Amino acid sequence: MKRLLWISALFLYSLFFFLQSPASANEGIDVRLLQNGGNLYAEDKQTVLEKLPAKSFIIILEKQESWSKVRVSDKTGFVKNAATSAAPYTLMKVSSSNQPIIRQTNEKHSTQLATVSNGSFVFVYAQTTNGFSLIRTTKTVGYVYSTTLVKPASVKMIVSHKNGAAIRLAPTMNEPIQTTLKPQMTVTAYKISTDWLYVTSGPIAGYALSSKFTVPAAPKPTTKPTTTVKRVALTFDDGPHPTVTRQILKTLAKYDAKATFFVTGRRVDLSPAVLKEVSTAGHEIGNHTYNHPKLTTLSSKEAREQITATNAAIKKVIGTEATVFRPPYGAYNDTVKSLTSLPFVLWSVDTLDWQHHDPVKMLQIVKKQAKNDSIILMHDIHQTTADGLDAVLNYLSTEGYEFVTVSTLLAK
Ligand code: ZN
Repeated sequence: MKRLLWISALFLYSLFFFLQSPASANEGIDVRLLQNGGNLYAEDKQTVLEKLPAKSFIIILEKQESWSKVRVSDKTGFVKNAATSAAPYTLMKVSSSNQPIIRQTNEKHSTQLATVSNGSFVFVYAQTTNGFSLIRTTKTVGYVYSTTLVKPASVKMIVSHKNGAAIRLAPTMNEPIQTTLKPQMTVTAYKISTDWLYVTSGPIAGYALSSKFTVPAAPKPTTKPTTTVKRVALTFDDGPHPTVTRQILKTLAKYDAKATFFVTGRRVDLSPAVLKEVSTAGHEIGNHTYNHPKLTTLSSKEAREQITATNAAIKKVIGTEATVFRPPYGAYNDTVKSLTSLPFVLWSVDTLDWQHHDPVKMLQIVKKQAKNDSIILMHDIHQTTADGLDAVLNYLSTEGYEFVTVSTLLAK
C-alpha cells in the first residue's frame, strides 16, 4: 500500500445506498435534505411547529410510511417523506489531538452526544457560519468543530477478488453485507485502516476489505523501450521493373525485410502488376515523379503534375497514394517542397549501384557506411543490384540490423 499515490478526496454525492437499507443498527441516524423547505409538524401531523427554510438538513429518527420522525437542531417533530431528498455529503477525516465532541446543535453548550476518534472517517453534510460541521458517524449525527476535519486522500482501485467485494455499512465483519461489487469494477477508495477501505462506485458506497482490491496496472509506457536493436531502411528507386524488382522482392522475403520503393509513374503504368506485388508484400510505396526530371528545372505547374500524375498512377493500381516522396537526383528547393504534403525522404548511404554496377562494391560501401537508422539508396532497375542484395542483407542481418520502411524508421 505504501506505493499508492493517495490523491485528494472527491466529493461524494449519494446517500442512495444508505437510504436503501431498511431499519438497521443505524436506524435514526439518516440525514435528509429539505431542498425546498417545508413544515415541521407536531405529532398530530397538523399543527405546524416551525417553518423550515429551503435546504434544511433534517435528522431522521424514525421512518414511517409517508412521514418521518425527525430532529431539526434541538426540536423533534414530523415531516412528510415526499418533501425530503437525499442529502449530499463529503467524506472527511477527523484530525485532532483529542477526541472531538459531537454536539446536538451547532452551539458550544449544547448537549454532548458522543465523541469521535481521531483518524476516523465521517460524512459531512454542511458547514455552519459559526464554525461547526454537521456530521454523521456510524452511530451518531451531530455537530463538531469544522477545524477538526480534513479531506482524506483517495485512490482509484479495482475489485480484484474473483468473488467481488462485499460492501458493509461499517468497517467490521459483524455488519451485514449490503451489496457486492463485481470483479473488475473501478472504485474510489479511501484507506480507513490497514484492513478496511471506504469505497464509492456510482450510487454504491460503503466499507470493504482492502484485500479485495488492487491498484490498476499503470498504462504501458508510450515511449519506445531502449533496446539494442539496430534498424536500417532499404530504399529502391526508379522501378518497378518486371524482372529486377521481382528478384529483389524474393530476397527481401528471405530476410523478412520491409523496404521502400520510390517508383516513377511511367514505370508504374508499364508494370502495374509488379507494383501490386510490391505493395501486397508489405513494402512502402514512395512517389519518385512521373518520368524522373530534375524538378528544380521545371515550372511549378510542371513539377506539380509530375507528382500528382504519379500519385494517380499508384492509386489506380494499389488503391492508395504514395506515403513518401523522393525528388530525382535529390534535387529540390522551397518551391518544389511546397508542391506536396508528402514527407521528403533522401538517403544517408548511397551505394552508387547505378554507377559501378558491381555487387562487391555495393557491399563494401554498405559495410563502410551503414549504421543505425541509415537510409540506404539502391535502384531496382539494375540486375547487378538485385544480384548483390543477398550479400548486403546477409551482412546487415548478421550485424543485428532489422529492415524497416522509411516511414517506420522516421516515426520513432
Ligand atoms: Zn531516381
